[in-house]
Amino acid sequence: MSGDILQRLNTLTLSIKHFSRLPHSDLIPSSFPSPSPTIAASQVPILFQEPYILSGYRPVQQHWRCYLLSLFQRHNESLNVWTHLLAGPVLLLRWWANVDALGYTLDLASLPLSLFLVSSLTYLFFSVVAHLLQSHSEHAHYFFFFMDYVGVAVYQYGCALGHYFYTSEPVWRESYIGLLYLPGAAFFGCLSCAGCCFAKSRYQRPYPMQRKICQLIPTTLAYMLVICPVVHRLLTVSWTQEPSLPFHTLQIASFLLSALFFSCPIPERFFPGYCDFVGQGHQIFHVLLSLCTMFQLEALFQEYARRRDTALEVFGERQLWWACVSFPALFLGGILIALITMSFLFVCSITF
Ligand SMILES: [Zn+2]
Repeated sequence: MSGDILQRLNTLTLSIKHFSRLPHSDLIPSSFPSPSPTIAASQVPILFQEPYILSGYRPVQQHWRCYLLSLFQRHNESLNVWTHLLAGPVLLLRWWANVDALGYTLDLASLPLSLFLVSSLTYLFFSVVAHLLQSHSEHAHYFFFFMDYVGVAVYQYGCALGHYFYTSEPVWRESYIGLLYLPGAAFFGCLSCAGCCFAKSRYQRPYPMQRKICQLIPTTLAYMLVICPVVHRLLTVSWTQEPSLPFHTLQIASFLLSALFFSCPIPERFFPGYCDFVGQGHQIFHVLLSLCTMFQLEALFQEYARRRDTALEVFGERQLWWACVSFPALFLGGILIALITMSFLFVCSITF
C-alpha cells in the first residue's frame, strides 16, 4: 500500500518538474497579455503619482486583464489591494464563528446586523477593485475611486444601523439626536460621498488645502454622528456588565488611528522612496480600518445576542423594514452621486 503511494508521489513529482521546465510560451498563449514591469513616478501621468512614492507604478493603458493579473505582481498598490482582499474572508470567518457561538437567525431582528456585514463587504470590495484597476486610465481612476467613496458611504450607514438597533440606549434614542439619527446618517453618508467625489474631480495635483477640507469635513461629521450611540453607551453603562464595550473602545481607537494615516502621508513623508512597496500610510490605514470593522462585528454580535428577543418589540416591524429599504436606497443614491460627478468630468472635457 505504502509502496503504491510512494510510486504515485514519485510520478507527481516528475510531472511537476516537467511542467516547471516548460518554456513560458508553451503555457501561456503569446496573445495573452501579461502585466508590464513597473515604472518610476515620472513615467506616469501626474494624476497617478502619490506623494513620496517614487517607483512601483503600473503603466497606464494596458489591457484590463493585465491589471487583474497585477494582483500577483509586485507594485506600489499590491498591499493596498491585498489588505482589503484578505479582510473580507477574515470578516466572514468571524461572522460564522459568532453564528456558532452566539446564534443567528435570518429575520427582522437580525436585519441590521446582516446589513452591517453587507456594507462592510461592499466597502472592502470597492476598495480592492479601485486599487487594482485604477491605473488603467484617468477615466478608470476617477470612476473606481468614486465607487470606493460610495462603498465608504454605504459602510457608514451600515454602521449607523448596527449602532442604532443594537448599541443605543432607550434614553439616547428619545433625545433629539436619537430621533434624527438614521435620516442624519443617510444624509451625511451622501454628503461625504458627494464631498469626496467633488474634491477628487475639482482639484488637481499638487492638491490644495480645500481638497482635504471637502473630503474631511463631511466624513468627520458623518463619523461623529454615527459613533454617538456608542460613545453614549461607553459613558453611561457599566463595563463589567457589557462584554461588547471593550470591542467598541477598540473600534474607536483603531478608527481614529486609521484617520490619522489616511490624512497624513506618514511614514513615507520621512522616507521618500523607501515605502514604495511596503509601509505606506495608506496600507496602514487599510489594516486599521479592517481591524475597526472586525471589532465592530464582535461588539454588534454580542449586543445582537442580548437584544434580538426584544428588538421587534422595542423598534416595531415598521422601523426595521424601513431600515431594510433605506439601505439599498442610500446605495443607489451614492451610485447616482458618483455617476453625476463622472458626467461633470466629461462635460469639463477631461481627456481620457
Ligand atoms: Zn484605499
